[in-house]
Amino acid sequence: MVTALLLSGGIGTRMGMGIPKQYIEVKGKPVIAYCLRTLLCHEGIDALQIVADQMWRETILQCMASLRVQGAEEKFRGFSEPGKTRQLSILNGLEDIRKYAGDSDYVLIHDAARPLVSAKQISDCIEAVCSGHDGALPVLPMKDTVYLSGDGKTVTSLLDRKKVYAGQAPEIFVLGKYYEANRALLPDRILEINGSTEPAILAGMDIAVIPGDEGNFKITTRADLERFL
Ligand code: C5P
Repeated sequence: MVTALLLSGGIGTRMGMGIPKQYIEVKGKPVIAYCLRTLLCHEGIDALQIVADQMWRETILQCMASLRVQGAEEKFRGFSEPGKTRQLSILNGLEDIRKYAGDSDYVLIHDAARPLVSAKQISDCIEAVCSGHDGALPVLPMKDTVYLSGDGKTVTSLLDRKKVYAGQAPEIFVLGKYYEANRALLPDRILEINGSTEPAILAGMDIAVIPGDEGNFKITTRADLERFL
């Protein structure tokens, strides 16, 4: 069983539009609607849990209804409370998913702010984890040369660009192992986590890297939003 955990609990208004980026309307639909449809339509996704603040839940339910995806009501299992950080939102979602999914099931974690995830990318994640890994992470090669600077003032050392990748979402994990990996970082270390795969690596999980998708960018700035329009 694969449960998609859709993260929509961020309140970032860095774009200065007054509402979180995942709820900005694009062509008559909030940004979240685009990946919501892809996840609901994907045959490999059995269940969907959404992290969202109470004040946006009705909007999401209406949006889901207007997508008219067959079987959506059965797939959608419920909302989870947002956490103080993205990783704490993930942990809240995992706690809720564990009420209906088992340790050996899979959780696919996606950002509501990445509207253009493809069905193929989701399938590739599922295929990679089902081939025996504890998880899978889509990555993109670095386009620029990357340098390490310990103090941000001088270059400390060189990195081999061929071995450095940028991580994307969705990431997929074996539910039980990933939940324990997150619990092990409580109460403080989890606050320093930036990427969903970090707890898995810290716990020694075996994570496959698979090709990411340039088109599956995250909306963070106004320029990203214009790219999506
Ligand atoms: O802030 P950032 O761009 O990294 O957020 C990525 C995704 O995680 C967004 O869809 C956002 O809504 C979600 N998020 C969350 N809970 C938080 C912070 C971010 O669900 N505390």
